[in-house]
Amino acid sequence: MLAGIDLGGTQVRVALARSDGQLIASFKTKTPLLGTPQRVVEWAASEIERNRGREKVRSIAIGAPGPIDVERGILVNPPNLPGWRNVPLAAMLRQATGSQVHVANDADMAGLGEFHRGAGRGTRNMLYITWSTGVGGGLIVDGKLHRGAHGTAGEVGHMIIDPNGPLDQCGQHGCLEVFCGGANLARETGHPAAELFAAAARGDKHAGMVVERAARYMGMALISLTNALDPEMFVMGGGVTRSWGLVQPMMLETLRSSPFIRPARRPRLRRARLGDRAGQVGAVEWARINQ
Ligand SMILES: [Zn+2]
Repeated sequence: MLAGIDLGGTQVRVALARSDGQLIASFKTKTPLLGTPQRVVEWAASEIERNRGREKVRSIAIGAPGPIDVERGILVNPPNLPGWRNVPLAAMLRQATGSQVHVANDADMAGLGEFHRGAGRGTRNMLYITWSTGVGGGLIVDGKLHRGAHGTAGEVGHMIIDPNGPLDQCGQHGCLEVFCGGANLARETGHPAAELFAAAARGDKHAGMVVERAARYMGMALISLTNALDPEMFVMGGGVTRSWGLVQPMMLETLRSSPFIRPARRPRLRRARLGDRAGQVGAVEWARINQ
């Protein structure tokens, strides 16, 4: 038996699956209700224990917000989880469950979920992009999750789009996330990103301009990513994709405007299918791959 956990700033989700990855059950609760890392680990371990029957859970994977020391399974200081600093999540969960535990980046897990069981099924080379408060990614190369030399591949939100652009919280100027991330758009306009996208969809001129600029920057990022990675498909998830009908045509038009990327090698651009279950589904796959 396998378990996949998706640890986010608002929710924790646990999924149990057979060793072939077939889901059996899933549970969720609100992260702030649990509060401390110890309570989160205890809750996840007790849900797994209560629902595993007589089966042994061989492998558990947990997707968590970065930055993460993936080798040692430590959450360093995730901005989405205030108060979590240098948390040895793998060791804690291993001790609580007796299973082997793999800690991974949450966007990587969502990408893996979409690749195996969502919009990216059937591809071999795919990039998952989450466009929400921030911008992140999970890269699949030749059918496998590509994590890079230090586990940080796919940080597409911190590609520099304009070196003269505003300072990002990462310390660089003009990152993709500065121009597109929901938190930055909210700071810039004084409206929550969801409101901004809704206003643009209703025909509000100013909101429309801000959204169009964001979508064009994202489209430029897709051009650079196509040139760097040559994927078959971009799969896009995250809150902004609720406005898919609005942003997808603008991104696509920008991508198509590149004379260098000929139609034959132009990747498809699809909306993610698994919604907020992508992380737990991907974590189950990661547990299966690493069992
Ligand atoms: Zn940045």
